Amino acid sequence: MVKAEAVHKSFGRLEVLKGIDLEVKPGEVMCVVGPSGSGKSTFLRCVNHLEKINAGRLWVNGHLVGYREKGGKLYELRDREVAAQRREIGMVFQRFNLFPHMTALENVMEAPVRVKRQPKAQARERAVALLTRVGLGDKVNSYPAQLSGGQQQRVAIARALAMEPALMLFDEPTSALDPELVGEVLEVMKQLALDGMTMVVVTHEMGFAREVGDSLVFMDGGVVVEEGTPREVLANPKHPRTQDFLSKVL
Ligand code: ATP
Ligand code: MG
Repeated sequence: MVKAEAVHKSFGRLEVLKGIDLEVKPGEVMCVVGPSGSGKSTFLRCVNHLEKINAGRLWVNGHLVGYREKGGKLYELRDREVAAQRREIGMVFQRFNLFPHMTALENVMEAPVRVKRQPKAQARERAVALLTRVGLGDKVNSYPAQLSGGQQQRVAIARALAMEPALMLFDEPTSALDPELVGEVLEVMKQLALDGMTMVVVTHEMGFAREVGDSLVFMDGGVVVEEGTPREVLANPKHPRTQDFLSKVL
């Protein structure tokens, strides 16, 4: 579902991703951890084509991200084609980026109606079902300001799901939440994983990684330092940098 081969990304002279090789199979959950500045968000943004990679290859759902390959050469996709690729990917960020002037229901309906041109009645019905699925069936008419951070983040997940993505990316979805609200968001993510969604989750929630993750990747300095099952990596980290990092977060 996601394949990265020698992915490089620089901002000017700053080389942030120095050759990332990773693979996430359909239905798998990959958790990514690592210190601040190690390139985790940049990697997710490259997968979603919010950033253009400088070298290497990246595939999502069988498509080369941002390019078309023809006769051994790469051709950049047009904006419209990039937008179509991006529609296959749902992304949830640390900060809930809901539209403040729209209710939970309107937030979830917005993209299907505007981008997919779904009839409103159909989009509404689906939005109610999605909000119910994330435990917010009674909050469909609430505005973001009337919801807790955990509720807002669950609306953000429902909104991403409304586009029926093949892949969900999460960038520290619980790290801006009060501790007592973290569990409800992780629970929704766990259910999503059990339903078979392919997910890449940047998180420092090691309990979640252990329970839900199929693989755990430790990134540092723009490279994958260590990768394995969460059980292996957490119980028996091989690299000193992984050991040092885990000793601080566990
Ligand atoms: P954190 O845990 O703090 O979220 P991270 O692992 O997600 O860290 P990134 O946000 O990917 O790290 O950033 C990696 C490096 O790239 C940092 O040094 C950051 O300053 C730099 N960087 C990220 N985005 C840009 C940008 N648009 N322009 C210039 N530098 C950037
Ligand atoms: Mg980040």
